[in-house]
Amino acid sequence: GARDGLGAYIAKPESYPSSVVVYHNDDFVAIHDMFPKSSLHLLLLPCDQTKTRLHPFEAFEDPEFLAKVKTETQKLRKLAAGELRRKYGKDSAQEQARRAALNADPPPDELPPGRDWEQEIMCGVHAVPSMNHLHIHVIAVDRYSERLKHRKHYNSFSTPFFVPIDDFPLAADDRRRQPTPEGYLKQDFVCWRCGEQFGNRFVELKKHLEEEFEEWKTL
Ligand code: 5GP
Ligand code: ZN
Repeated sequence: GARDGLGAYIAKPESYPSSVVVYHNDDFVAIHDMFPKSSLHLLLLPCDQTKTRLHPFEAFEDPEFLAKVKTETQKLRKLAAGELRRKYGKDSAQEQARRAALNADPPPDELPPGRDWEQEIMCGVHAVPSMNHLHIHVIAVDRYSERLKHRKHYNSFSTPFFVPIDDFPLAADDRRRQPTPEGYLKQDFVCWRCGEQFGNRFVELKKHLEEEFEEWKTL
């Protein structure tokens, strides 16, 4: 069924163009999300047959597996950060300052650091995934995308419904283990960047997300 759609990438990763499968190795397949909810949205799929059908909370109870997933997620985060730098680095004030220093004659002993794009990427899972195969979202923080069409799309990346990979292993009494984390999806909207509240006004939120995106990418 539709919820099994991610299985095809694990079964035959070599059959996809690089615009779909970013890379694959024996243990993982990294892909572009088909309905990206940010300006960059990747998915990391572990191939392990004993884990791929498990809920992430259960799969990550295995410390050895969790460690492997964290290492690979970090690798994909770095790759995604490089992609953001290529997309937005030329506009970024911090990177312009670094380039100007590099080109100065003579260049200063200490260059200003470029922007840390890794900080602009979130890595984690949904408390209630919609797709059956285990996957980790590696997504830019902007939440700016024409595919972000529904209230739940925004809140699934903006409330405790999104569980960062670094939060695992979860404590036994972690509130995100509750039986109905779907309640998070109905929360009032809060801008991820400035904290402004939008109640349930989705159209206004979307307009604001565009303004935040324009600022964020040129910071
Ligand atoms: P979940 O809510 O299960 O954590 O997220 C599943 C993700 O898979 C969603 O972001 C959705 O856009 C993405 N997705 C659903 N079907 C496909 C597909 O067939 N191919 C790809 N590449 N992504 C998909
Ligand atoms: Zn804002």
